[in-house]
Amino acid sequence: ACSSGSDDDSTLTVCTNVPFVPFEYQEDGEYVGFDMDLMNMLADRLDQTVEVVEISFDSISSGEALNAGTCDIAAAGLSITEERQAAMGMSQAYYRADQALVVPDGSAVATLDDLSGVQVAVQSGSTGEAYANDNAEQYGYEVVAFESMGDIASALSAGTVGASIADLATWQQMIETASGLTLVQTIETAEHYGFAVQKDDTELLDEVNAMLDAAFEDGTYAELYEKWIGE
Ligand code: GLN
Repeated sequence: ACSSGSDDDSTLTVCTNVPFVPFEYQEDGEYVGFDMDLMNMLADRLDQTVEVVEISFDSISSGEALNAGTCDIAAAGLSITEERQAAMGMSQAYYRADQALVVPDGSAVATLDDLSGVQVAVQSGSTGEAYANDNAEQYGYEVVAFESMGDIASALSAGTVGASIADLATWQQMIETASGLTLVQTIETAEHYGFAVQKDDTELLDEVNAMLDAAFEDGTYAELYEKWIGE
């Protein structure tokens, strides 16, 4: 069905970056999560099988990976922005997201106002990085970019950095397992996740949007939301 990514028509190649709980992460060698369930639904609809291609988030969010034909679609908790809409084909929104400020337990940092002189970890190429850069001067912190959320959690636990700004839902679930970290402030950025395809692949874009419409209507999306996010 798709012109690039895998040459094999029976395969839907999906670019992602893990761990990004609860949207994509590995469990017993399998890629699972909210995004992965939705990608499996898309693949079923297209009579294809998902093949995950793990790459840096940066190469996904810049559009570089998709436009180089590395994969058919990107599923990466990717927030819809004007820049990304210009670089890639972006689907309708399927999840409303915000940012969060996370610090090691016992830190003196309680809000953004306490970040003067602190090293703030962000994920390279993320909206959290853009937010952190935009506000660095005002709050007087230094932004340090990492490749993955796993690296950020390790740096925070090791005390290499003093804080992090990244997606709220991911941090809420990460701090449950990465002990010693506290979420101190929600930063309402009102973002919306979308799936991304190659810029001219309107055929696949229509299929993703139709898959989402069907899932919103028949209750499947609500079930998945409950399964992965809760409430
Ligand atoms: N939602 C954020 C963004 O699109 C972060 C996504 C991620 O790190 N996987 O930039």
